[in-house]
Amino acid sequence: MTSKKKDIRALTKDQLRNFFVDQGDKAFRGNQVYEWLWSKGAHSFKEMTNLSKQTREQLQQHFIINHIRVDQMQRSKDGTIKNAVRLHDGLIVESVLIPTPKRTTACVSSQVGCSLDCKFCATARLKRMRNLNADEIYDQVVAIDKESRLYHNHPLSNIVFMGMGEPLMNYNNVIKAIDMITSNEGLGMSPKRITVSTSGVPKMIKKMADDSVRFNLAVSLHSAIDEVRTHIMPFNQTFPLKDLQESLEYWYKKTERRITYEYVVWNGINDTQKDIDALIKFCSYVPCKVNLIEYNPIDDGEFQQASSQAINNYIYNLEKRNIVVNVRRSRGKDIDAACGQLANKS
Ligand code: SAH
Repeated sequence: MTSKKKDIRALTKDQLRNFFVDQGDKAFRGNQVYEWLWSKGAHSFKEMTNLSKQTREQLQQHFIINHIRVDQMQRSKDGTIKNAVRLHDGLIVESVLIPTPKRTTACVSSQVGCSLDCKFCATARLKRMRNLNADEIYDQVVAIDKESRLYHNHPLSNIVFMGMGEPLMNYNNVIKAIDMITSNEGLGMSPKRITVSTSGVPKMIKKMADDSVRFNLAVSLHSAIDEVRTHIMPFNQTFPLKDLQESLEYWYKKTERRITYEYVVWNGINDTQKDIDALIKFCSYVPCKVNLIEYNPIDDGEFQQASSQAINNYIYNLEKRNIVVNVRRSRGKDIDAACGQLANKS
């Protein structure tokens, strides 16, 4: 069913205040509604119990509240939860809750499908259908926060934009969502607990730096050799490593925030000393750390996780140069919730 009514959450607080003034009411009413919509997460006007019946009806006449619905929730043996989230137009994205003893992290999607074409990622096989709105990103976080409280007895502690999509190709909505997540009128989370992960869109990395954002940046690097990177991440042809490097130097100069490089080591693709040396050189440009991610097979043959010997060789060489390196084990593999596995299978 399509409705001509406007989605009320597309309005800023000022626009809401103006709406009430135009209706001959007090601007303050807009603040009350805003609070219901965001920090209280109301899904209907009926819930807004401190408004008069007349005001609620007035809202009903003009607006709708689009909201997501968790269609299906799957729980892994390791405690990871994956939500299949239905959007107001029926499209589906996935988000994941990753519990560890010290923190619970929400991994959220920014697009339906993905605009990029990384050869090793299941999401890349879904066509990009559309960008998510800010409220659709925000709602994923709210849903996971609720699940975290319910199943793990504490609120969500961290958020990573590592679900479906390329966040920097939906920049405005991602920033709007983060503003709301960090605002006291939303969830009041610290931006230090939020990480935006990108495949590396230099122009947008510079824009983020200019916008003085206060969250963390991760870059899915996977290779520091153009030829290799273009083979596995074809858009590297358009955004080569030199441009990426330059944008990261710009980012660091402006924000002084260390960058995380995400890196999977594959058999016969990036497992030689030459690959390691190139990564070490790339790491010399700006303060950074490296997360070695376990590969989550998405099917056929070309990509296979490198041997532990090859991975240990990376660790040994990086640590010798005083580069911080962490090994990230996969979580939620049994329910296809691990990195690169989000593909709306169910
Ligand atoms: N487009 C953004 C956000 C997605 S994050 C980005 O690329 O950063 C998803 C992370 O999982 C990225 O680091 C990606 O490179 C990694 N990834 C994708 N497919 C994977 C797979 N099959 N196994 C392990 N990691 C994978």
